[in-house]
Amino acid sequence: MKNQTKKLLVRSEKSIHSQTPRIEINLTKIAHNAEQLCELYRSKEIDIMGVTKVVCGDPMIAKVLVAKGINVLTDSKLINIKKMRDAKIKATFVLLKTPAMSEIEAVVKYADISMNTELSVIKRLSIVANQHHIRHQVILMVEMGDLREGIMPANIEQFITETQKLSGIKIVGIGANFACLSGVKPSAKSMLYFSSLASQIELKFSLPLLYISGGNSANYNWFMTSVNTMNINNVRLGESIFLGREPLDRKVIPNLFTDAFTFVSEVIEAKIKPSVPYGDRSLNALGDCLQFRDEGDIKRAILGVGQQDVRVSGLKSRLNFEIIGSSSDHMILNAQKADLKVGDEVEFDLNYGALLSVMTSPYVKKKYVYSY
Ligand SMILES: *Cc1c(COP(=O)(O)O)cnc(C)c1O
Repeated sequence: MKNQTKKLLVRSEKSIHSQTPRIEINLTKIAHNAEQLCELYRSKEIDIMGVTKVVCGDPMIAKVLVAKGINVLTDSKLINIKKMRDAKIKATFVLLKTPAMSEIEAVVKYADISMNTELSVIKRLSIVANQHHIRHQVILMVEMGDLREGIMPANIEQFITETQKLSGIKIVGIGANFACLSGVKPSAKSMLYFSSLASQIELKFSLPLLYISGGNSANYNWFMTSVNTMNINNVRLGESIFLGREPLDRKVIPNLFTDAFTFVSEVIEAKIKPSVPYGDRSLNALGDCLQFRDEGDIKRAILGVGQQDVRVSGLKSRLNFEIIGSSSDHMILNAQKADLKVGDEVEFDLNYGALLSVMTSPYVKKKYVYSY
């Protein structure tokens, strides 16, 4: 073959990254939310752990949290913790879920503290910690009714007795978690129970608990309605910092920004078409059966994003465009409201699930914004 170099296009990394879809991350608004929440919770002597899992351990965001006084960061993925450490973020790092047996070495290496519920895992952590001549710190998660992770309260004392025999381990706290799997809310009663459990443990084992971690963003209503938050001294917050809402009723927390994140997508087709499909129908490409309202011919705009980029059901258009449906790489809007043209950008708010999906998607470009 002849030398074809002259015909080749320059294919650099840069040229394949388009401007959309992108997630605009307003660090100034996140900083404001973090500051406000720190102040609010500290008014009742509660410190915040910043939960970075929904932002995939993004170091730019982590840095903002630390700058606002959140010096303990927690993530469910070690790879995110490593990423933040590599970026020289100065914080105490907590692994937010009970370690897998297969990652114990890495847990001891990268996490200062891990949340735990299994004795066999803690035994392994102890062995590895001893090999490295350190004591790995653990927070024991207690089951409070949501039925995700947790040691049953009836077994916690026995569990602590066994854990205290392990030389490589130091128990630094206990934690409760609500409203993650089953939507069970933290009630005055369950929080009182958790609090008294902490007191009993401290007394019985002469074990001061550095972290009595009462829950997550879903504890907001409990916090606001409790004159006395007892000995609870910590909550782990993700959603309320990043999206400015409490997750149970989706209410906006006063003075917080709910639009620190903006998902931006681009119109790739805009045409007048019927509002109802024609031809014999089966399920769509993703196995769903969409419903359609007959509005006659409508302006339909296609955005060049789909389920591969974002959890579409968690998006809400800032201009209230109705999302008609989506497939893996296309999302269709009812564009009757405005004259959307090819090349136009459309902005969306994201809920927690949508934010999680865009921050982990390799297709979504990140853009940091530094002003209100
Ligand atoms: C995700 C998670 C949190 C944070 O929840 P938010 O609703 O984002 O505040 C706290 N604790 C645990 C154990 C979690 O898994």
